[in-house]
Parts: sequence; structure tokens; C-alpha cells
Amino acid sequence: MKKLEEYLKGVSSLAVTAHINPDGDATGSVLAVLNYMKDNHPEIQTNVYLQEPEKELAFLPGCGEIHTELSADKVYDLFMICDCSTLDRIDPFAPAYRSAGRRLCVDHHKSNAGDFAEDNEVYPDVSSTCEILYDLMGTEHIGRNTAECLYTGIVHDTGVFKYSCTSRHTMEIAGDLMDRGLDTTSIIDNSFYSKTYVQNQILGRALLESVLFFNGRCIFSVIPESVMKFYGVTGADMGGVIEQLRLTEGVEVAIFLYETQTGVYKVSLRSKKFIDVSKIAVAYGGGGHARAAGFTASGRSRAIINEISAMIAQQLEDAQAQSGT
Ligand code: AMP
Ligand code: MN
Ligand code: MN
Repeated sequence: MKKLEEYLKGVSSLAVTAHINPDGDATGSVLAVLNYMKDNHPEIQTNVYLQEPEKELAFLPGCGEIHTELSADKVYDLFMICDCSTLDRIDPFAPAYRSAGRRLCVDHHKSNAGDFAEDNEVYPDVSSTCEILYDLMGTEHIGRNTAECLYTGIVHDTGVFKYSCTSRHTMEIAGDLMDRGLDTTSIIDNSFYSKTYVQNQILGRALLESVLFFNGRCIFSVIPESVMKFYGVTGADMGGVIEQLRLTEGVEVAIFLYETQTGVYKVSLRSKKFIDVSKIAVAYGGGGHARAAGFTASGRSRAIINEISAMIAQQLEDAQAQSGT
């Protein structure tokens, strides 16, 4: 791993982006870089390009400075792409990405092939892009605002330090960031756990409609467009549903679909111990990690679930054959 400082040598303009529908790690990453640049390189023009983050992330320092649209024809010396494994997930900003002098990808998706930037700092075993950024930046260059962004990203991608991607190093970094005087309880409560009334309602509905299969080792739930309209919810209100499905006792794989437009589904997959859900997501043109992945698919929800189930069954069989049971 090189230091961020090395990538910034000779750079006088920097753009930073992350994936569409930005989550805590994506938003935390780009704003961490923005705050780092303010503290360490005010002489370098730095612009952040990102779809508007959810309102629970609006407290992050620099959130108001995000550009949601590309400024015309600006050519940057360096373009950083964070928490993103394929170019189609930075869609509106791809022209500036392509025209930049150099490209640096900082990511932790298993599905990242490292084939769309000259420089890659991609570590699939690391909890979050924010954790990688901490190491790229170095603790001595990290101020309070940068720390707040990095901490939030780590909290979100580790499910508050509980997913299997959480390492000793993750916890040590979190401890070091806390030392900058962060209100960690508020960050965790307000940006991660807090739910609106309708978010709780749709969570309840998804759990009520969920179906166990494969002898209780898998679970799925589907929220059709009509139900989304009834509750007045969007994809942004679905955070937490897949996690609650995954927590069902005995379940190895959880599948959650919601209909974003007629016949088009956003699919989330989670596993607990051994099914590699990123393989399934990649087969549909999506991506992610071994234990958390996603994609978009068209067709009938039951047909999509049947196809996914066949891929899970294959992996379950392979795992059983390997363990000799
Ligand atoms: P989600 O189910 O949307 O919360 O996504 C779970 C994980 O998979 C996250 O790390 C996402 O960044 C990743 N992911 C979701 N959809 C895609 C996609 N279409 N392409 C690549 N990665 C994805
Ligand atoms: Mn992300
Ligand atoms: Mn991430």
C-alpha cells in the first residue's frame, strides 16, 4: 500500500466519487477525502461528485459541498473512485473520470477486478473503504472532521462492528478515531439505527411476508411496487430489512427484493458463514462481498428467486460434498 500523499504529488486538481445510491461507507469515504484535503492540501482544488446521500448522513462535515452533477468539461489531474467495483455505478460522473490525467481506485469489493484505474488500492478482506483510507492517509494527517467521516463509514459497513469483516485492526482504527472527540453514540444511533415510522412499517411488512425454504436455511421476502406506493417508501427506506431477515435463526442466506419500477427488482443477498453471495450477484451483473452483495434484475420475482435458489443449492451441495456430510 502506498500513502495518499504519494498519489497527490504533482496534482493540482482532484475529483472524488463513490457508487450510486451512496451508503455510509461511500459517503464517508468521499467526505473523508474532502476534509483531508482541506486540512492538508488547501492548495489543491478538490471537488466531490456523488448522488445526494440519505438525510441521516447529512451531519457529515462537507456534505453540503457535494456536487450531484458534473461541472461542464472540467479536466482533473487525479480522479479518485471510492467504494465502487464497476464503472457503471458512477454513471453520471464517468465522462470526467475518463478524461482525468490519472485514476485511483480505493475499494474493498470482492467483485472489483481492478481494471478501470491506473492505480488500485483494493483490499477485499478489509471491512470498509474508510478503513483503507485511514491507512492510506496515516493517523498523523487525520483531523477531527476526517475522523468523523471515516468512523461513520466503518460503523455502517461493519454493521456497528459485528460483521465478520471486522478485524482487530478495524477496532484499533475506530479507537484511534474516537480519540479525536467524536460523539460516537450519536453517530451510531442517528445514522445507523434510527428509523422513521414508515421505515418501521415496511420492515414489519417485509418480515410478515417472508418465507423460509430449504429447511429453514434460506429466507426470502418481496416488496412489490404496489406495497411501496401504499406506504409511500423508496429504496432508501429499505435499509435494515435484509439484515433482520439474515438474523433469522437457522438461516444461512437471506434474499430481499423490492420493485423499483414495474418488473424491475433491486435484489439484496446476505449470508452468515459459507455461501458466497457475491458469486450470485456477479452472475447478474451486480457485485459485492462474500457475505453481502446486490444486483438489479428484471422479470417475475418468483422466477428471480427460483434462479437464485438454484445457485444457492449448488453451493450448499458443494459445501456438503467438501465437508463429507
Ligand atoms: P446492498 O444489498 O445493496 O446493501 O449491497 C450489498 C453490498 O453489495 C454492498 O457492498 C454494495 O456496494 C454491493 N452491491 C450492491 N449492488 C451492487 C452492484 N450492482 N454492483 C456492485 N456491487 C453491488
Ligand atoms: Mn458501499
Ligand atoms: Mn463499502
